Amino acid sequence: MATSNQMQGQTVLVTGASRGIGKAIALELAQAGAEIVVNYSSSPDKAKEVVSNIKDSGGKAYEIQANIANEESVNDLIKTVLERSGKIDVLINNAGITQDGLIMRMKTEAWQSVIDLNLTGVFLCTRAVARAMLKHKQGRIINITSVVGLMGNAGQANYAAAKAGVIGLTRSAAKEFASRGITVNAIAPGFIETDMTKELDADQILSAIPLGTFGKPEYIAGAVRFLASEEASSYITGQVLQVDGGMVMS
Ligand code: NAP
Repeated sequence: MATSNQMQGQTVLVTGASRGIGKAIALELAQAGAEIVVNYSSSPDKAKEVVSNIKDSGGKAYEIQANIANEESVNDLIKTVLERSGKIDVLINNAGITQDGLIMRMKTEAWQSVIDLNLTGVFLCTRAVARAMLKHKQGRIINITSVVGLMGNAGQANYAAAKAGVIGLTRSAAKEFASRGITVNAIAPGFIETDMTKELDADQILSAIPLGTFGKPEYIAGAVRFLASEEASSYITGQVLQVDGGMVMS
């Protein structure tokens, strides 16, 4: 992995960066020269591996455990990063879970835990990081939503509601922070091959993807790199970029 200096001197916090899409984002932005804070919840070894990967390639990174669904844990995380790195230039709200079930059978706990991490967690991180970004009058926030938040999905009412909520939160935050030099955008992945999707009915999903293949975490990481770049960041805010092989066209 050769590093470039596109993001040299910047500190990026990626939530849920031990595996899947978050890991790919961490590696991609490290390659662009940024220092990466690898947040994880319950996989310390995987998070350490991501950090070692980055360091072995000449990059800068460290890992921090935090439960993004918990307010105190999020506030501690942001405080620690600000103490250690002095600032956060880019926040990637990526951590997410699924707990699928049809509405009639969905337990309230399954509803709540998905909302707590996938929606409230994005709010908690955004609020905590925005305080520091507002002081510096610059910052980029990129939220990982989902095409499911745009189109709904039987069996994923909790997940779809959280991801649709993230889109409303993205646009509201973009409007609140625009005058202070902070952009807020979202990326809506389609079906990406990670632990999250390994149990799903692949054949059925494949038939709904015009480009005819599943997505790779690196495709999302490339879109994140673009939205975090100087070229995009000066004049793109409040947008949802779909990276979904054409699954949803609107
Ligand atoms: P994944 O492979 O299951 O990875 C989930 C990541 O989130 C892990 O790093 C995990 O950390 C972390 N995490 C879980 N609970 C957490 C918590 N309470 N606090 C902090 N971190 C936590 O999932 P993925 O497929 O990469 O998904 C990443 C994001 O993309 C999610 O927001 C997901 O909704 C979204 N997305 C995925 C797809 C897809 O097709 N895969 C499509 C659309 C959107 P540990 O390893 O420590 O548990």
